[in-house]
Amino acid sequence: MQAHSNSLLKLYNTESRTKEVVAPSFGDTLLMYTCGPTVYNFAHIGNFRTYVFEDLLRRSIQFFGMKVKQVMNLTDVDDKTIKGALAQGITLSEYTAPYIEAFFEDLKTLGIQRAEEYPAATDYIQDMITIIERLISKGMAYVGSDGSVYFKIDTFPSYGRLSHLPLCTLKAGASNRIASDEYDKDQISDFVLWKAYDPERDGDIFWQSPFGLGRPGWHIECSAMAMGILGESIDIHVGGVDNMFPHHENEIAQCEAFSDKVFVKHWLHAEHLLVDHKKMSKSLGNFYTVRDLLGKGYSGAQIRYILLSTHYRTQLNFTLDGLEGAGASVQRILDFEQRLKTIQNLNSFDLAAPVMKKCLDQFTKALSDDLNISVALSALFEAIREINVLCDMGKVSQTEAKEILADLHRLDQVLGILSLEEEEEVPAHLLEALDKRMKARADKNWALADEYRDLIAAEGYKIEDSPSGVRLKKQRKT
Ligand SMILES: [Zn+2]
Repeated sequence: MQAHSNSLLKLYNTESRTKEVVAPSFGDTLLMYTCGPTVYNFAHIGNFRTYVFEDLLRRSIQFFGMKVKQVMNLTDVDDKTIKGALAQGITLSEYTAPYIEAFFEDLKTLGIQRAEEYPAATDYIQDMITIIERLISKGMAYVGSDGSVYFKIDTFPSYGRLSHLPLCTLKAGASNRIASDEYDKDQISDFVLWKAYDPERDGDIFWQSPFGLGRPGWHIECSAMAMGILGESIDIHVGGVDNMFPHHENEIAQCEAFSDKVFVKHWLHAEHLLVDHKKMSKSLGNFYTVRDLLGKGYSGAQIRYILLSTHYRTQLNFTLDGLEGAGASVQRILDFEQRLKTIQNLNSFDLAAPVMKKCLDQFTKALSDDLNISVALSALFEAIREINVLCDMGKVSQTEAKEILADLHRLDQVLGILSLEEEEEVPAHLLEALDKRMKARADKNWALADEYRDLIAAEGYKIEDSPSGVRLKKQRKT
């Protein structure tokens, strides 16, 4: 998509706290690292809010005429995956494989474009060891009395610059060290790079290293995969806001201490998702995976829409009512597309096409302003409203309808809604039922035909006439 290569894409950089124009530093391709899932469970919709945002970003980069090379890691070794594997008495990869598979299925359900690479942390252990060795040789890491290796944060003076931590807090904690991967801001301290083997905790899961048996800390995993695949300096690094500290702060320290280069040019963080204004938790009964929502009859397109439609730096309050509203919005776009396809008026009016051109301009301008999706979507719905009125009056020609459709599909390369709807597969047994219903109707066996119709409806599908014949359409809950 080259049409918008003249516009510039501006994004808010967490580090500089300003909106900055984004362009590739090397060649014509933006290098982008996105922190991926820890594959110890099914990812929840809070995780997918970040992944859908990263997909919007990826598609927008392309919309603005740039190429992107995106890497998303799979954290397959950490406290949680090891605990899970040991509890079930299986190997780490046996334990993580089904969750990796489920993750890719969910990406497909939500119409998330595939990244260029999905490295697994266990494939980069040697890279991690190499980084740690250099940090030790530079005096920026040390072996603690517990045999684990720690990063010495007082050797990295700009520690805290991403999350804008006050320096006094840093100094207070600088004499401590911490072995767990996740901790709070009031516990700033030397963080673990390599965890010494603990038979009780780790069972038979460990790697050899110059620092003894053990396994990497979580933070070093992303540093090794980002530098290993994209290089020592990258354009964009993205993650959820809860990863800003300590995870991303630690990534900066490790990478820059290792390479003496600036690791990341633009840092982007997606805000939290709340459910019914509360933090999602299993005990509150407001915890949802994508699968849970599909099981309740919602479609991938409407889940995508709700996760997409709130600006990424604003907290998203997810509710089932909101999800139903998202279904109605998706349906409006689909109905509009369908309507344009059926227009056969051969007169010429030149009323609707300018409306769509204006919409395309507003949409592009909104996206260029730190992906202001709410303004972009309202421009689209305003155009749909105006053009529908012209359609009602019979003042849209077939030629214009085709132009508008082309523009709509251009916008959809960013939104990914229409294309996702078209991809949804109808289960084979329902296609069979549809076939049998047609035969029953041909035989004038109306009772049998109705039986098949009811069977199809019971599974949430509607029988629809289309230019290419009868087809099944998934009903969205609206
Ligand atoms: Zn990461």
